[in-house]
Amino acid sequence: MRNLILFGPPGAGKGTQSAFLVAHYNLVHLSTGDIFRANIKGETELGKLAQSYMNQGKLVPDDVTIGMLEAEVNKHPEAAGFIFDGFPRTTAQAQALDTFLESQGETISAMLALEVPEDELKSRLVARAATSGRADDADPAVIQKRIDVYNAETAPVADHYRALEKYHGIDGVGSIEDITARLTSAIGA
Ligand code: ADP
Repeated sequence: MRNLILFGPPGAGKGTQSAFLVAHYNLVHLSTGDIFRANIKGETELGKLAQSYMNQGKLVPDDVTIGMLEAEVNKHPEAAGFIFDGFPRTTAQAQALDTFLESQGETISAMLALEVPEDELKSRLVARAATSGRADDADPAVIQKRIDVYNAETAPVADHYRALEKYHGIDGVGSIEDITARLTSAIGA
């Protein structure tokens, strides 16, 4: 299996690039943000719980997120591999993911980290608010909170995969096609 983590701060382009990678490598796309948003729309218990955290720019608690992610992986026993988008976002999530995959005789193939300067992230998120309909994009204070949470809690996840020699930094500034080409060249055939 090919199991990729698409990593990077809010607004780095993970969703945009996932769409291409999923089709190109025949992977199942698991975006924790998308799954939470679908649950909010469906007014499930999980959605109600997640919404309060998301609207404040905070992370949904690890136990909830990890349980949900594992259940989603288990729904795809025939998958040729996964692309994890927005997960893991804490070192506890990374450890849980590694242990979970190992229990199935699998592992993470690579972490692809989109690197984008903070000013560029903020302007992309403000622009995205016009079309995304996302409450967490509409408020500059929430955008700042998401970036702060990323720096404090999520950035250390890169070190976890660096230590395993699975980290690939990718310049996330440029045209969508150029960034896709950088990703595919890091992933390989
Ligand atoms: P972005 O990367 O643009 O901030 P996402 O759609 O990935 O957006 O995530 C939106 C929100 O969903 C996050 O700010 C957080 O509240 C919640 N969320 C998504 N993934 C996770 C995760 N792995 N752990 C905890 N919370 C998460």
